[in-house]
Amino acid sequence: MDILWILWTIPAVIAVEETLMDSTTATAELGWTVYPVSGSSDNSWEEVSGYDENMNTIRTYQVCNVFDNNQNNWVRTKYIRRRGAQRIHVEMKFSVRDCSSIPNVPGSCKETFNLYYYESDADTATRTSPAWMENPWTKVDTIAADESFSQVDLGGRVMKINTEVRSFGPVSRNGFYLAFQDYGGCMSLIAVRVFYRKCPRIITNGALFQETLSGAESTSLVAARGVCIANAEEVDVPIKLYCNGDGEWMVPIGRCMCKAGNEAVENGTVCRACPSGFFKPTQGDEACMQCPINSRTTSEGAINCICRNGYYRTDSDPLQMPCTTVPSAPQNVISSVNETSVMLEWMPPRDSGGREDVVFNIICKSCGGGRGGCTRCGDNVQFLPRQLGLTEPRVYISDLLAHTQYTFEVQAVNGVSDQSPYSPQYASVNITTNQAAPSTVSIMHQVSRTVDSITLSWSQPDQPNGVILDYELQYYEKDQSEYNSTTIRSQTNTAIIRGLKPGSIYVFQVRARTVAGFGRYSGKMYFQTMTEEEYNTSIQEKLPLIIGSAAAGLVFLIAVVVIIIVCNRRGFDRADSEYTDKLQHYTSGHMTPGMKIYIDPFTYEDPNEAVREFAKEIDISCVKIEQVIGAGEFGEVCSGNLKLPGKREMFVAIKTLKSGYTEKQRRDFLSEASIMGQFDHPNVIHLEGVVTKSSPVMIITEYMENGSLDSFLRQNDGQFTVIQLVGMLRGIASGMKYLADMNYVHRDLAARNILVNSNLVCKVSDFGLSRFLEDDTSDPTYTSALGGKIPIRWTAPEAIQYRKFTSASDVWSYGIVMWEVMSYGERPYWDMTNQDVINAIEQDYRLPPPMDCPSALHQLMLDCWQKDRNNRPKFSQIVNNLDKMIRNPNTLKAMTPLSSGVHLPLLDRSIPDFSSFSTVDEWLDAIKMGQYKDNFASADFATFDVVSQMTMDDILRVGVTLAGHQKKILNSVQMMRAQMNQIQSVEV
Ligand code: AMP
Repeated sequence: MDILWILWTIPAVIAVEETLMDSTTATAELGWTVYPVSGSSDNSWEEVSGYDENMNTIRTYQVCNVFDNNQNNWVRTKYIRRRGAQRIHVEMKFSVRDCSSIPNVPGSCKETFNLYYYESDADTATRTSPAWMENPWTKVDTIAADESFSQVDLGGRVMKINTEVRSFGPVSRNGFYLAFQDYGGCMSLIAVRVFYRKCPRIITNGALFQETLSGAESTSLVAARGVCIANAEEVDVPIKLYCNGDGEWMVPIGRCMCKAGNEAVENGTVCRACPSGFFKPTQGDEACMQCPINSRTTSEGAINCICRNGYYRTDSDPLQMPCTTVPSAPQNVISSVNETSVMLEWMPPRDSGGREDVVFNIICKSCGGGRGGCTRCGDNVQFLPRQLGLTEPRVYISDLLAHTQYTFEVQAVNGVSDQSPYSPQYASVNITTNQAAPSTVSIMHQVSRTVDSITLSWSQPDQPNGVILDYELQYYEKDQSEYNSTTIRSQTNTAIIRGLKPGSIYVFQVRARTVAGFGRYSGKMYFQTMTEEEYNTSIQEKLPLIIGSAAAGLVFLIAVVVIIIVCNRRGFDRADSEYTDKLQHYTSGHMTPGMKIYIDPFTYEDPNEAVREFAKEIDISCVKIEQVIGAGEFGEVCSGNLKLPGKREMFVAIKTLKSGYTEKQRRDFLSEASIMGQFDHPNVIHLEGVVTKSSPVMIITEYMENGSLDSFLRQNDGQFTVIQLVGMLRGIASGMKYLADMNYVHRDLAARNILVNSNLVCKVSDFGLSRFLEDDTSDPTYTSALGGKIPIRWTAPEAIQYRKFTSASDVWSYGIVMWEVMSYGERPYWDMTNQDVINAIEQDYRLPPPMDCPSALHQLMLDCWQKDRNNRPKFSQIVNNLDKMIRNPNTLKAMTPLSSGVHLPLLDRSIPDFSSFSTVDEWLDAIKMGQYKDNFASADFATFDVVSQMTMDDILRVGVTLAGHQKKILNSVQMMRAQMNQIQSVEV
């Protein structure tokens, strides 16, 4: 324990001694009480003036009765007040004569004396009380001299002085007396000092401890609580020190440390605020640090330094790191063009902004098209290794258009670029691509065949690289040499090859030609003519089907076909079917291996083959119909159960074909199954199978408890959160992405054709084709148009006008579905007539946001309704976009103002009417784009006539770089144009 105490003692703090009595400070006689009474005998203690070792005059008591026996001489101090002390220390200075130095001294000679104390609440002692004997006094000790002297010389010349200290306690009365008892010695009591000890006020370990009296015993420890000094905080509690009997602090417990922004100075006794230009981020003992380069403090006591203007820190940059800035532009961009590809290389920026994380982004703009402006390149341009976040100073860009001017901006960005209000610095390079031959034709497909002819069609090359002048088709009999091949030319992407041998397999290859010459030949594809028997049978048995097939071929211009990799005859999911074996379609083209492509059942000579190929036949005994749930195109739709051997019973929907059907109706009805059966995706309705071998004919699908989406939403108006609605939209987009990836164009995407199950999962359904056919006019949703019927409100303008149905037109319809969903099943364009809808769309009007529709969703709708189908997002982008919204629901908080009201027919009415302003500047102010006034003026966009014709290129060209501002201005310009058209038509 003693050792620990030594370790824990707080060094450098001297115990404080508080004196209660000091005989050396007496200026007159001490006047202590002597026994026996002085004068009654010569032998008792006697007060004598003398000198201390420094020859100061002092009052002493002496006694020297060595020759008399039985000495008992007492001297008692005056009353000494305790003043709170619990343990009293007595320091005595005295000299004692060596008995052996006194000639003839008797054996009773002593060289010691006794020290006593007596406690009393008041100064009540008299000459006789307390009695001059051990009891009532309390003996402290017998005091012996360390040194004695042989020659008494009270003149001070030879004097050896002993100093002894004794202590006693606990004392509790108000005061006490001391007494010195001589019993036969020769001595002089030169000085007596009485004191107690206390631990001083101290600041240690960041805390202040007040003065504390030591305890009653020499071993006692008195605990004292410390209080943190200003600007320090406790790190360990409690904060304690112990004061020991000698007035020393020991055993420190707990501590305080200077707070963040403060450092310990003056030996840890003061926490001082960091001076300006310095900071300290955390609590602790460390000193303040100087602000790193490019940062500063705004006041004293900083816990960090803020970056100077134009300098930034990322969240992960340590505070000690200098603030950094955006990089300068890359240098010396060099381009080398090779036909429709270009390699760009550059030098890193001169100034990396002080960071190591500089990467490069490539902005691709194609220029010189039409009005002389530049537009961003489309998605089809390829960047290797990637377009954004390039770590190496080079990129290979391919699939550009031939003969086209491009501008590439190479941006340098680093970890703080997105904090800068300015767009990244870039170096740009202009190039013009060379003439390039068209890319290869990837898909060829047989339209029909006879004994001596085959009709083929093929898709345009992905990269025509110019106007296709014609195609060259090369073919030869499979068993013959390639050198005996015949070539024919076709102006279109179809050809009838005549004069072939019956029942023979021919190898075909096709290539496109532009002014740049021929592209490469496609992969070899194999098609077979009919045998005489086949031909005769097909004419007799399948005449109606062939006619139907041809009609369908007219309705659906695009027929996409089966692909099987040459070396893999089993490329089909159901490659073992009779049909596949008979019709050998091979390709060695560049389709991604494993990518499945939708096959139009009408490309089959006998669509029943397609049903057999893609739909499983279910025995009627496995099906139990329960109740009618709806009316379908061809008969009732029922719910029921399906129990397949070895599988669990499941709830299913059963579409039936009403009795009395024609063969064509049967074929059209089942075509839905042969389309649906090719799909396998959680957001596309799943086909269980068909019943064709018994009556009624049925299509059996998974059961969707909540029925079709439009009526489901109308029944639950306002019941869902935005996130739930976006979740439904996400599902639909995901199903559509899958269908688009399979090259399937739906043509009738609408909320009525989405089914909802009990978990609110939405699935794309309705793959029936018959309603597009012209002869059925019963449903007003589908308006007859040349070549088939079209659901006008849901259909993209190019599909209405010239039957250009693509996945991009499905995206338009998807935008309408978004609008239906967000308005809980409202009818698009309300009660406007179809013709009014067509006119409004033509004049760039668009549906306004439904009530409570987040702006981000309405913006996505507007993107889907871009007039130019190339500018519409792809389904994959829509899915990503919705996923982002779901991950960051905050992006769904901003609403378009309700001023657009549901009764106002179209477009975003929150954009002010341009006609209420007299200048373009005023109009810019009103749409909150006033900062671009100078840009507009200097680019000569100074009148409404000119501004109303602005395109996105023009907006870019005047220097509007922020995407949000570009959109705002473009929308407002479109609005202006629409308003102008309206004014003009009124005037007309
Ligand atoms: P359709 O002929 O596909 O338009 O179907 C007619 C109606 O039957 C739909 O509007 C739905 O209400 C219902 N229906 C069709 N398929 C299903 C299904 N798989 N689950 C539940 N109801 C369905």
